[in-house]
Amino acid sequence: MILVLEKGITQVRKSQLKSILAENGCMVHEPDGSGQNILGVIGKNSLTREFLMAQDGVTDVIPISTAYKLVSRQMKKEDTIIKIGNVEVGGDKITIIAGPCAVESREQAMTIAKEVKKYGATLFRGGAFKPRSSPYSFQGLEEEGLKILAEVREVTGLRVVTEITSPMHADLMMKYVDVIQIGARNMQNFELLKCAGRMGKPVVLKRGLASTIEEWLMSAEYIAAEGNRNIILCERGIRTFEPYTRNTLDLSAIPVLKQLTHLPVLIDPSHATGIREKVSPMARAAIAAGADGLMIEVHHKPEEALSDGPQSLYPKQFGRLIRDIYVIAPVVGKQLIHDYTGYSAVSTDALSKEFNKSRKDKRVVYLGEQGTFSHKAAIQYFSSDVENYPVPSFRDIFEHVKSGAADFGIIPIENSLAGSIHENYDLLLEYELFITGELSIRVVHNLIAHKDTKLEDIKQILAPPPAFQQCRRFLDANPDMKIVPVNATGSAVKRVAESGNLKDAAIGSVEAANLFGMTVLEDAIEDNPRNFTRFVVIEKQMAQEGAKNKSSIVFSTSNKPGSLFEVMKVFSENQINLVKLESRPIHGKPWQYMFYADLETDLTDSNTINVIAQIEKNTEFLKILGSYNCGKKGDGLEMI
Ligand code: PEP
Ligand code: MN
Repeated sequence: MILVLEKGITQVRKSQLKSILAENGCMVHEPDGSGQNILGVIGKNSLTREFLMAQDGVTDVIPISTAYKLVSRQMKKEDTIIKIGNVEVGGDKITIIAGPCAVESREQAMTIAKEVKKYGATLFRGGAFKPRSSPYSFQGLEEEGLKILAEVREVTGLRVVTEITSPMHADLMMKYVDVIQIGARNMQNFELLKCAGRMGKPVVLKRGLASTIEEWLMSAEYIAAEGNRNIILCERGIRTFEPYTRNTLDLSAIPVLKQLTHLPVLIDPSHATGIREKVSPMARAAIAAGADGLMIEVHHKPEEALSDGPQSLYPKQFGRLIRDIYVIAPVVGKQLIHDYTGYSAVSTDALSKEFNKSRKDKRVVYLGEQGTFSHKAAIQYFSSDVENYPVPSFRDIFEHVKSGAADFGIIPIENSLAGSIHENYDLLLEYELFITGELSIRVVHNLIAHKDTKLEDIKQILAPPPAFQQCRRFLDANPDMKIVPVNATGSAVKRVAESGNLKDAAIGSVEAANLFGMTVLEDAIEDNPRNFTRFVVIEKQMAQEGAKNKSSIVFSTSNKPGSLFEVMKVFSENQINLVKLESRPIHGKPWQYMFYADLETDLTDSNTINVIAQIEKNTEFLKILGSYNCGKKGDGLEMI
């Protein structure tokens, strides 16, 4: 059951309550990070509701109706986010685990790890103890395989995941790997589950071949009951009568689990389908259905693989899939994890501590108010250990980054419906700051009001002007609502919340509604669902590490026929794809223009020095705004 406590309860009283419960044989769980003042209580039913309600500081007693308790959504409303080094699983992030079915040799594991890292995986998988249907099949390299996994981590910085098949191997796993996996065949091996719970390392818990969702959650409860809450569920297909695929992927498990549990949910389309060409369609569908990530088998020579070759993707196929995932994720409000300044790179524990420490001191500044789309972009791009804070204007963002008050700024640069945000283009020209990354966010507008407000009661709507433009049809259908412009969606929601006025409403995100304790009256009121805003990250230095595949420049040309053409010719002759070209007036020089261009190339690469020289020759002014990774990982592949 859940005890709801008084808002202002003291820590002393809370501890007394915990002792009373413990003395009566109950297990007490305080959900972390929930912001709610509650205690989860599991134990004998000897304590009556009357007894608990009579305790000072308790305002309500809510029974948990499901058989699983700790992992239930009733116990914790917020999604659990699991940290593995600097990688987060759950929340708004999409995490990709990839690698071979089994570690076969040092060379094989290292080759595949480098490939999957290049294409965007942030965790590496590979079995060292393989549960095979036949005792005569390859059983894995055992400890030797674990040593290879540890070496892969040293070399690539990718954290490693491997299957544990027996409690006997717990010490070895503790020594060599970061995440343990409990395979489908062991989902109800209760001794192994308890052991995983005691080990405390993050666990990927696969669904059993013929297990119900409830049985699966009960298995997760075994791990949680031992004190380990770092559990990631992984659906990998269940046995049905259908022989055309190895198993049947139960995609409906995703929305079902999202309702029942706070734990992150991954999909393994490799074991689910068993067939290479079926893997990518199912992976794309999984992300569209709300999965938090994927576990994919990849092999550079699948024909020679010692296990599961027919379902393993070639590295290039994997790269293509990741590009699709990058595009699909924002549609459902998520973001593929970005590898900014070596995001996934953690070689040794000592190094990782250093890295975490340096990230903990970092700050990102954004426009407006908590709950704005800029705030969401800041959270999605940076993990939660980078502190974020708002300022009132775009110029303030530039000033804060320039002065060092913030390490990063995040600014909207263009909207798919409304076009460029010119003020930021002008500021990029004015300040000596660089673009080091980008991401797109889907903008879904909602009508937000107090819980008891009815649509017909609303007299005025608060929102920033672009939001009004994007919700024209809704406003036209409700002509009696007066529009009140404010500077950001988050501020609109905050003002309505604080006013307490039941006749006011705001336009904003679901996150803003939740943040300020408001209700969504009507969702998705924007005219066009293809409403995306592209943000860029700005820093004092150019991006140092990681692959860069996009560059932004600004230039002016002489006022002669063909001068712009000469610059375009440089791009064309060097096979550089131009993805955006826009002109802006030069301040103080009427009818003269600067050109802003986005190119699909890395202008910091030594091979492109020559290209810069050629552009310089044909321009009067040239400024490189930055080279960065636009998230479409992989080389040599066409853009989608
Ligand atoms: C695996 O991930 O290689 C594996 C054996 O998976 P499952 O337990 O889902 O069959
Ligand atoms: Mn496998």
